[in-house]
Amino acid sequence: MKLTIIGGGMTGLAAAYIAAKQGIKVTVVEGSDKFGGLLNTFEIGGNQLEHYYHHFFTQDAELRWLLNDLGIADKAFYKKTSMGVFRNGKIYNFNSPIDLLKFKPVGLIGKVRFGLTSIFLGKFANWTKNEGISTLNWFYKWAGKGITDALWKPMLNIKFGPYASQVPLSWMIGRMAQRLNSRNDGDESLGYIQGSWKTLLDALVKKLEEMGVELIKNEPVEEFVINNNQIKAIKTKNLSIDGDKFLLTIPSIYFDKIKNSPLDANGIEYFGAVCTILEMKRSFSHIYWMNVADEGFPFGGVIEHTNFIPKEQYNNSHIVYLSRYFAMSEPLANMSEEEIKAVMIPPLKRINPEFSEDWIKKVYIFKTNTAATVCDLNFSDKVPACQTSTQNLYIANMAHIYPDERSTNNSIRVAAEACEVMDIKADFVPYGASLSGKIGFKNKFEK
Ligand SMILES: Cc1cc2nc3c(=O)[nH]c(=O)nc-3n(C[C@H](O)[C@H](O)[C@H](O)COP(=O)(O)OP(=O)(O)OC[C@H]3O[C@@H](n4cnc5c(N)ncnc54)[C@H](O)[C@@H]3O)c2cc1C
Repeated sequence: MKLTIIGGGMTGLAAAYIAAKQGIKVTVVEGSDKFGGLLNTFEIGGNQLEHYYHHFFTQDAELRWLLNDLGIADKAFYKKTSMGVFRNGKIYNFNSPIDLLKFKPVGLIGKVRFGLTSIFLGKFANWTKNEGISTLNWFYKWAGKGITDALWKPMLNIKFGPYASQVPLSWMIGRMAQRLNSRNDGDESLGYIQGSWKTLLDALVKKLEEMGVELIKNEPVEEFVINNNQIKAIKTKNLSIDGDKFLLTIPSIYFDKIKNSPLDANGIEYFGAVCTILEMKRSFSHIYWMNVADEGFPFGGVIEHTNFIPKEQYNNSHIVYLSRYFAMSEPLANMSEEEIKAVMIPPLKRINPEFSEDWIKKVYIFKTNTAATVCDLNFSDKVPACQTSTQNLYIANMAHIYPDERSTNNSIRVAAEACEVMDIKADFVPYGASLSGKIGFKNKFEK
């Protein structure tokens, strides 16, 4: 059997690895000049850094399995991180119950309701029963107006923009479970890889080459060859590639751009994301992950990477990501790098009045139109079946990660599920705490 995989991001590479381990002949066809998709890195301060901040969680069993299998488990490590919220012109630490008590924008009753509702969502709520409920409405009802206006609403606005009120509670349940499970006594430990995630990508690509996987870059797939409702081959500008089974791992919004495609996005939309990365002489704040909950900021998160990974690894530069998700209808979707810089940098002074643009050595900007799927109410109705109605054509992509937050770990989960649907054994991949890979795969989801 020959498996042809379209898209060489983490989902495609993980599926290739699982199949090739069993002697299956695999070809991966990637459109860009690099494998790794959203996980790619660039050089800064003599080291590699992700275009988009990337950490992992203590419960990411699928990722740990892959690191271990590739013989690089010793490169992964966990560290306690600090979280904060900028609200009413002030930075608040937000790591522990004591921090919550000190959070002035909300009164005591609001804090108690916040704690109880968070624990309920993270530990006890059933996501399958809450797909039709709006997270925002639920928070107004059960957590109260104070904490919803001060924290949840700004956070949802930052992440989902115009779709904030449509985010189903099931997504929040997935998110809460992920965050609460990575906490130990209130502190959150996050994982990272020595030398950046490039260490994983390099090891994976090298292993695939050793296993005889054919890895093709710079060849966007442009056409399907389908006879009698059965896919026979795919075509790029220069190549025609056959196979017995074909796994499509590219974002759903690109399905109908392929000639003769029997597939479309089925109503699924994607968000874009822009990360403005500042290489700086000084530290901006003491916090790793700061949610910006005041109005009028062009970014939603200030992520100071060097409060997680020591600055010594980047030639003593302090590295800050300014993160912002955007809908395709927003001006950010079409802004030039110069325009993005002009919008993003000046408001930093509102958070740290000492901040001066002299602190910045260099600015890097990375932008993608397919950062995440917009998961709205009853999103599972839109999630495509892995096995399409065209024989031997399968799909595994970010849409299958719902109701969890999309992540590298969950890409591996979804790749393993897709392999099983294609009758490729994948039961050696551990099933971690992930809620992903349940919809669109064989009988895994019952409402
Ligand atoms: C801002 C941001 C922050 C993130 N933070 C984290 C984090 O902290 N931790 C974490 O684990 N994850 C994080 N993620 C998510 C993680 O990067 C993704 O979930 C994962 O990389 C998705 O992999 P994928 O293979 O499904 O998709 P992609 O990475 O999008 O890969 C799809 C591939 O398909 C290729 N392609 C597209 N069209 C074609 C075509 N026609 N022919 C051939 N190839 C094609 C693309 O070039 C790409 O390489 C983050 C993502 C973003 C955007």
